Amino acid sequence: MPTALVFDVIIIGGSYAGLSAGMTLGRALRNVLIIDGGKPCNRQTPHAHNFITQDGEKPGVIAERALRQVLAYPTVRFMPGTVVGAGREDGRFVVKTEAGETFLSRKLLFATGIADQMPGLPGFAECWGISVLHCPYCHGYEVHGRPLGVLGNGDMGFELAGLIRHWTPSLTLFTHGPASLTGEQQAQLERLNIEIIEKPLAEIEHRNGTMQQLRFGDATTRPLTALFARVPFTQHCPVPQDLGCTLKPSGHLNVDAFFRTEVPGIYAAGDNCQPMRSVAVAVSAGMQSGAFLNKELIEESA
Ligand SMILES: Cc1cc2nc3c(=O)[nH]c(=O)nc-3n(C[C@H](O)[C@H](O)[C@H](O)COP(=O)(O)OP(=O)(O)OC[C@H]3O[C@@H](n4cnc5c(N)ncnc54)[C@H](O)[C@@H]3O)c2cc1C
Repeated sequence: MPTALVFDVIIIGGSYAGLSAGMTLGRALRNVLIIDGGKPCNRQTPHAHNFITQDGEKPGVIAERALRQVLAYPTVRFMPGTVVGAGREDGRFVVKTEAGETFLSRKLLFATGIADQMPGLPGFAECWGISVLHCPYCHGYEVHGRPLGVLGNGDMGFELAGLIRHWTPSLTLFTHGPASLTGEQQAQLERLNIEIIEKPLAEIEHRNGTMQQLRFGDATTRPLTALFARVPFTQHCPVPQDLGCTLKPSGHLNVDAFFRTEVPGIYAAGDNCQPMRSVAVAVSAGMQSGAFLNKELIEESA
């Protein structure tokens, strides 16, 4: 691929948001390069749900099908790789990959997602996306009515327990140490028949990610079908911040209603800039950001 070619847009991250933007821009006759590191956040989950027409499909199959459809547009190229840096030279963006290649573009779109930080609890990472679940809208239906748990404490644990209670009458809040709940919160959980267990956890015992039971520090156990938890995250890709893009207090990239970051010419879409994590939302953001990028390019050429 000749490095002197200036793409209209380089999309960094070629999962759901990036591929959706790629399709919109390809259909707008734009020269696009998508560079993707191949590590979407849902890669460990066996089935993706709540994305209409693809409900229950394997996440990788949805992405492969999307890539095939996007590459049907002749002005779109896709390259596996990791972007390690970017800068501006002569009004163009210069994008560098880990493999040492350099590409030029008029605009950048970061669709790079976030990286979930797994806690040190043995078994947690292995069960992530299989029986340790982040979202009831993605995975709640499959476990509804079964014995479920929420791992959390304080306001977050209280709110998540209240939400998950909708899917099962058999819910336990595991605070993994002394509960930091207000008296009113404790009373409300009791009214909802949600048990609170404060004992520290020692391990999630599982078979290939399917939870069998929780084992506590005192060696007692509790059988469980699934545990809902929210984990901290970092931006999957630090390059937007290197370029001057800022983060919201939540850790998401700051974008406006048009998916523009504060740095002219740089857009972001998908999990990296909004908290509602779902394939449908990422696809929507990708489509919208592609359209807004195209509009900006049209206006600049006028
Ligand atoms: C365990 C789990 C299960 C889920 N299950 C569901 C579900 O059932 N249904 C549903 O609707 N949603 C589900 N979600 C949410 C959904 O997967 C995300 O909302 C969606 O993947 C976000 O898409 P994205 O394109 O923004 O980011 P991602 O899909 O995370 O993709 C980001 C891409 O950018 C690439 N990238 C990052 N940095 C760089 C770089 N420097 N250079 C090149 N490439 C880079 C990554 O390798 C990756 O391919 C789940 C999420 C998790 C964590």
